[in-house]
Amino acid sequence: MGNWLAKWMHGNQAEDEPCPHIKPYLNGIADGSMPNGPVRRFVRLHLKDCSYCDKALYGLILLRARLYNLKENPGKSDPLDKERRVELEAGWDAIDAKMERKTGAQ
Ligand SMILES: [Zn+2]
Repeated sequence: MGNWLAKWMHGNQAEDEPCPHIKPYLNGIADGSMPNGPVRRFVRLHLKDCSYCDKALYGLILLRARLYNLKENPGKSDPLDKERRVELEAGWDAIDAKMERKTGAQ
């Protein structure tokens, strides 16, 4: 599960703090704005093995989902272009599926 790796990389890191070298990219992953490429692949690979960053990303996505709903419901305007929105929703689905596997279906 990459625990030794996480320990080695994190040291005394607080549990809800993402790795410093990943943190700058988490927003781009959470809102789907990061283009496909080596950096994105690297970050996603890291997320699989790092519970710290995974947790941080999930928090960001929840936050964005709330903001998104705030924007989406009162007005008629679409805050995201369609392509980004599809990608974002696919990302949320993936996270949801992951959480269900971790916690059991609810
Ligand atoms: Zn990490």
